[in-house]
Amino acid sequence: MDLSIVIPVFNEEGNLSQLFGELKSVLDSLGQTSEVIVVDDGSRDRSFSLIQEWSRKDSRFKGVRLSKNYGQTAAISAGLEKSEGKMIAFMDADLQNDPKDLPKLLQKLQEGYDLVSGWRKHRKDPFFSKVLPSHWANWIIARITRVPLHDFGCTLKVYRSGFIKPLRLYGEMHRFVPTFASFLGARMAEVEVNHRKRVSGNSKYGFSRIFKVSLDLVTVKFMEDYMAKPIYVFGGAGAIMGIVGALLATVTLYYKFYVGIYVKDQPLFLVSIFFALIGFQLIFLGIIAEILIRVYYELKDRPSYFVRETVGFN
Ligand code: UDP
Ligand code: MG
Repeated sequence: MDLSIVIPVFNEEGNLSQLFGELKSVLDSLGQTSEVIVVDDGSRDRSFSLIQEWSRKDSRFKGVRLSKNYGQTAAISAGLEKSEGKMIAFMDADLQNDPKDLPKLLQKLQEGYDLVSGWRKHRKDPFFSKVLPSHWANWIIARITRVPLHDFGCTLKVYRSGFIKPLRLYGEMHRFVPTFASFLGARMAEVEVNHRKRVSGNSKYGFSRIFKVSLDLVTVKFMEDYMAKPIYVFGGAGAIMGIVGALLATVTLYYKFYVGIYVKDQPLFLVSIFFALIGFQLIFLGIIAEILIRVYYELKDRPSYFVRETVGFN
């Protein structure tokens, strides 16, 4: 199988028929073996019966129905799990992404990239609630994660499957898939894509996404820099606090013996105890984090490195 297209769906009955129609004509013209995996994320409308209907008509269309609404990330993971293509494309179900852009992205991938990301340069979404915050968010995410993309939020992206199959995604981490792929050393390119207004159905996200993205960014950054060596963060911070605590204790003693200000009259004494305690705590936290990380890698049987290719094995 050359290409798998994974589409998460939550209450999109008004969009599916047109989406499948557009996809079908693009796939017919591609001349590659392909499948469309549509994941119904617990829709309460007719979405799944539409998927079933299409699947009966065209064997390339396949449906997965989740037992309840788990969220876009889980839906994407479920689709990924079932996919067999050497290339994987993601796309929204709300017709905002244009299937006609697919060939462009795939062609770029063939040029030797592992990930080609869509960039909605002319986005058709409300300015204050979507376009502006996402512009800032993209800027910050690109700086902090050092992944130079303009549009993390654009679902339309294609990957070589080897770079995303090993990923385990939690929460709303689908926005950081390119970041994780880049941790694995993926070569990335970006292509401008068409973006359309949402005509049917509602957006599933509001302002709360800003907080979630910010917190996720902290996790992602930590995972990037310190996942394999958390003791460096906790131990480092702990050591600094310990040293500051010891210095303050020395000052306190100096005052006691040479200046005549007693410990009970000296607020620095309490501060130094505080620093020393927190310092110890942090160091032990670091050791626990180290143990957890080892368990994590062992349990998942996942090495802390990623092999791009092998030769000579069968
Ligand atoms: N989606 C989903 N589960 C959810 C929320 C969204 O499968 O809990 C799907 C939704 O049907 C759409 C895609 O994820 O295909 C993106 O959602 P939406 O268009 O609401 O996001 P926006 O474009 O407003 O950022
Ligand atoms: Mg949308």
